[in-house]
Amino acid sequence: MAASRSKSVSKKLLKAEDDNPVRLRERIVELERQLLDKQTSFGEQIEQILEACPIGVTIQDFDGNRLFVNEAQLKNFGARSKEELLSVNYNNSLVNPEDGVQLDVRISGIVKFTDAEFHRKRLDNSKWWCLLNRNTIQYKGQEVYIAWLQDITNRKDSDRLREEARKQADKANHSKSEFLASMSHELRTPMNAVLGFAQMLQFDPKNPLSTIQNEHVENILTGGHHLLELINEVLDLSKIEAQELSLNVETIAANEVVADCVRLTLPVGQHRGVSINNTFGDGPTVFIRADQMRFKQALINILGNAVKYNKDSGTVTVKGLETDDGFLRICVTDTGVGIAEVEHDSVFELFHRVGLGAMTSREGTGIGLTVSKLLVEKMSGRIGFESEEDVGSEFWIEMPLATNINTLD
Ligand code: ADP
Repeated sequence: MAASRSKSVSKKLLKAEDDNPVRLRERIVELERQLLDKQTSFGEQIEQILEACPIGVTIQDFDGNRLFVNEAQLKNFGARSKEELLSVNYNNSLVNPEDGVQLDVRISGIVKFTDAEFHRKRLDNSKWWCLLNRNTIQYKGQEVYIAWLQDITNRKDSDRLREEARKQADKANHSKSEFLASMSHELRTPMNAVLGFAQMLQFDPKNPLSTIQNEHVENILTGGHHLLELINEVLDLSKIEAQELSLNVETIAANEVVADCVRLTLPVGQHRGVSINNTFGDGPTVFIRADQMRFKQALINILGNAVKYNKDSGTVTVKGLETDDGFLRICVTDTGVGIAEVEHDSVFELFHRVGLGAMTSREGTGIGLTVSKLLVEKMSGRIGFESEEDVGSEFWIEMPLATNINTLD
């Protein structure tokens, strides 16, 4: 199409040349004028489109002369008229000096750039945040810059507020963890004294307690132990949150540790007839890498829950199996109340206790699983569960096998 047009133009030119050189010059001038008209009207069409654009647009030649600004650009700079805006040298005077030389280089040295964010000044010297994109286009017969300036002040302000709020929350959270860690430590010492003296009262052969006195001391001991457990859990939690928990990860024989945990948990369910069947303890020895005390703590919590949330005369089964990716999975399955599906996502949340039925009245705080998860994950392990309401639950802990080099620090 363009080729055939230029052919017909040259034909006309040749004809004119044949005729007369003066006519030929006139003809060329006429053609140039027509071309300029076309370019000008095309430029005006571009301006009309840009006028409707909600983002501020400036067209500027390579010598820095501004040729066009749209209405949105007036708003960006707080100008009353296009004449006012076109007459100021806003590259220099309207750039915030705090943003420095780097920006001058960006504006004058590089033709194209995308998504530059910086402060600019309005005509009244107030600041706004600008998102600048710049490119080149053909406009009214010449190559020019086209700059798109978007006011992102609101976004920048909310980013800053969010960042400040996050920093404050982090600081407050850290102070809370430190306070809890020191308080729990302070509470443990007198609590141990209360329990110790209560036990001495019970076992003082010279001054035996009456039945009723013994009952009172038993209540002190039960309540005291529960309180001590709670204090220990809060202490662990705050230590983990304050990044102050140190672990002693070593190679341990998992079977022995699991058998130990089962032995310690058995008495908890005896009065309700809940039994624990450990199918892993007697199998071949499996070595894992873990902090023995912390692994025990997590497993005892899971075993304790399996007994606590079991039905009377229910059973708990402990199994061990090796996964394909080098972990030992200890599964603790119970025949208890189970957990409704809607509650599954929040089981590991702090202080979350599932359901409102009779089972929630069982002693507990909703801290145990949170602490277990944090501990297991700190030892490069994994923890999870499957559960069905009124059928039972299976909680599992996976710890790296001693041979698993992928989880070595
Ligand atoms: P706690 O037992 O002190 O309430 P945990 O953090 O150990 O706290 O457990 C959180 C909640 O998860 C429990 O309150 C209980 O509702 C639910 N849960 C945990 N283990 C079981 C389980 N084996 N069967 C049913 N519900 C369970």
